[in-house]
Amino acid sequence: MKYFSTRGVAGSLSFEETVLTGLAPDGGLYIPEHIPSLPENWQSDWSSYSFGELSVAILSLYISPNEISQEELRQLVEKSYSTFRHPDVTPLKKLDERTFALELFHGPTFAFKDVALQLVGNLFEFFLLRRNANKASGEQEEKLTVVGATSGDTGSAAIYGLRNKANISIFILHPKGRVSPIQEAQMTTVTDPNVHNVAVKGTFDDCQDILKALFADREFNNTHRLAVVNSINWARILAQTVYYVHSYFQLQSQLPSGVKISEVEVQYVVPTGNFGDILAGYYAKRMGLPMSKLVVATNENDILARFWKSGKYEKIDSTTHDLSGPTAPVEGSSDGKQGTVSSGVKETLSPAMDVLVSSNFERLLWYLAFESTTTSIHDKKKLEASQLLSGWMSGMKSNGRVELPGTILEAARRDFVAERISDQETLKTIQEHFIRKESYIADPHTSVALAAAKMVAIQNTPSTIQIVLSTAHPAKFSEAVSRALEGSPHFDFDRDILPNEFRGLLEKEKRVIDVERPDVELVKAVIERIVGHQNAKVPESGSV
Ligand SMILES: *Cc1c(COP(=O)(O)O)cnc(C)c1O
Repeated sequence: MKYFSTRGVAGSLSFEETVLTGLAPDGGLYIPEHIPSLPENWQSDWSSYSFGELSVAILSLYISPNEISQEELRQLVEKSYSTFRHPDVTPLKKLDERTFALELFHGPTFAFKDVALQLVGNLFEFFLLRRNANKASGEQEEKLTVVGATSGDTGSAAIYGLRNKANISIFILHPKGRVSPIQEAQMTTVTDPNVHNVAVKGTFDDCQDILKALFADREFNNTHRLAVVNSINWARILAQTVYYVHSYFQLQSQLPSGVKISEVEVQYVVPTGNFGDILAGYYAKRMGLPMSKLVVATNENDILARFWKSGKYEKIDSTTHDLSGPTAPVEGSSDGKQGTVSSGVKETLSPAMDVLVSSNFERLLWYLAFESTTTSIHDKKKLEASQLLSGWMSGMKSNGRVELPGTILEAARRDFVAERISDQETLKTIQEHFIRKESYIADPHTSVALAAAKMVAIQNTPSTIQIVLSTAHPAKFSEAVSRALEGSPHFDFDRDILPNEFRGLLEKEKRVIDVERPDVELVKAVIERIVGHQNAKVPESGSV
């Protein structure tokens, strides 16, 4: 299987090159040359598979065996999911007769990003070890320096994915004193020698700027082989398709007796920021996993919900010009705060979804563009799709908005519906689910999805079952959860929510490097001091 860029200019790559490259040099995102179908008898052949076995089966549809053999893949997968606390890895929990929560937070940092990042870390290490094993003696070893910036909620998943990995150093920048104590402790108590937390005296915005400056410095970038592990990385999307298929089998075993899975319609409801998690569901659907629709659940940063209402894809809602509320630039948004209209990100109670534009949406748009072309010649269709998409993306870049053709919106509505959920509804929904008979404590991100599920359920057929993706453990967002439940009798944070792993976390040994000013030169000096003399200088054309 080869991968090509949505913008159609960069050449095609192997899986290994795709994973190590991340963003294509033409600015696009890599997608597979075709979407494979689930094998004919998957429903029976795979029904007794564990999560790991299912991962191997699905991943090998996208990775040529001459790149990673079945046995190597099995080992990588086993290693990646041995860090999860639940035997099912991503268990499905019944909330009521019609609603299930697919819990994705049983990994090391209690959030769904672990599912993908545990695998990504092992893939990186596997590729580097293999490259180095093939080197002549005396030749410099290849090393990788992963750098990232976090406002708190996602840095730890990257750190846990890459801790203790051979040939890889990871530097995560966070604004000093501006992340919650638990989030700070989750990152800085990882004391493996290859993990470096950098606390920058400044804002998250400053950290993002430093990151951009590091990547823009070609010489520094090449010397240290900088890499990112953000959600546009193809391996992250791929890893996430597995739990959709896994949930199908779990649902099958939890249906009331007498009800067959073929008689129900499954609707997945996904709390969405950068569109990575739900895009994995789209791939699963295209591969042949039976489902009715995917529900895009956004918070007040609702660019996607607005698109599905109007067909307009625009950073700022042009119908209201609503710029009220506190704003902050945000992790993962593909073009951060360049330009004038882009500082409109709202701070919400579900911060991991606070993005202005959803970077992975570009991948869906490519498929919709492909469908809309009229020629029947495959290669020509691909080319036309990339040209259409490039036009839209450049419109987005220069104007912060683009109006997509009606046919595109129509096609998008066939597979998806979207809802926007306010902070107030988020809090109310946490409360509602807590006081139910089947009491469930949702984190604010999951709550956004639960609220959206309720809104769309009104139009569902009686045979529809909703699977709501539960993306974080409630203890990870304790402030919002406590705020929602503080008035409730019977609620006790320590007893009801706090996992053992979080107890005593604040008192543990920490390792952090302080940077006194938000100055890229100071951060460069830190990286240089730590990895400077280890890393090989490589030609600019290197694919890492
Ligand atoms: C990252 C994240 C999301 C959003 O996922 P995307 O793939 O960016 O759409 C939702 N919930 C939590 C807890 C997250 O960390």
